[in-house]
Amino acid sequence: VFISFEGGDGAGKSTQSRLLGSWVESHGREVVLTREPGGTALGQVLRDAVLHGDHVDPRTEALLYAADRAHHVHSLVRPALDRGAVVITDRYLDSSVAYQGTGRDLGAQEVEDLSVWATRGLMPVLTVLLDLDPVVGGGRLTGDPDRLERAGDDFHRRTRQAFLDRAAADPGRWLVLDATAPIEQIADQVRERVAPLLGL
Ligand code: C5P
Repeated sequence: VFISFEGGDGAGKSTQSRLLGSWVESHGREVVLTREPGGTALGQVLRDAVLHGDHVDPRTEALLYAADRAHHVHSLVRPALDRGAVVITDRYLDSSVAYQGTGRDLGAQEVEDLSVWATRGLMPVLTVLLDLDPVVGGGRLTGDPDRLERAGDDFHRRTRQAFLDRAAADPGRWLVLDATAPIEQIADQVRERVAPLLGL
């Protein structure tokens, strides 16, 4: 069972991934918690290149994320799913469609096609969108902002809308939650949606 969390920076994706992971583990299932970009050793190199490299143009950016995703799926996600683990990833292909496809104007369909090729079409059965006003999300971040976190408000507004539009188009795969709700309330809503997927 493959589950992804999506949303803007500061929405709580890593917190909610961890909470869901512990809950699933408490039911005796193997859980693999991972992230993109940077879920593997090669992915860390690619993450550093894309987030801190100088003058990374949009196509190069899209290809670096796609390379990270291809390697992530091939070396970690697919093998885990094959042995029956529950894989929970903090970001997956929908981030590329929203950020590179819409945010960087490369075209949602082209970027999706690239990711589908990179992953041999592996899609999550559930994608949880933690929806948040980017201005609120930006204020929640700590530490040095990376190149993308410094991108303009308009960029983040458009990527937020891209996530919402994708979710609206495919409600069977998506669960959209208000990221400003209390952490435990969000976690409960996620568990409610995941339980039947795991036969719980
Ligand atoms: O979620 P995380 O903090 O690891 O993401 C790192 C940065 O990369 C964020 O600023 C996010 O907005 C950006 N990103 C992106 N395109 C992706 C994935 C992440 O622009 N496909």
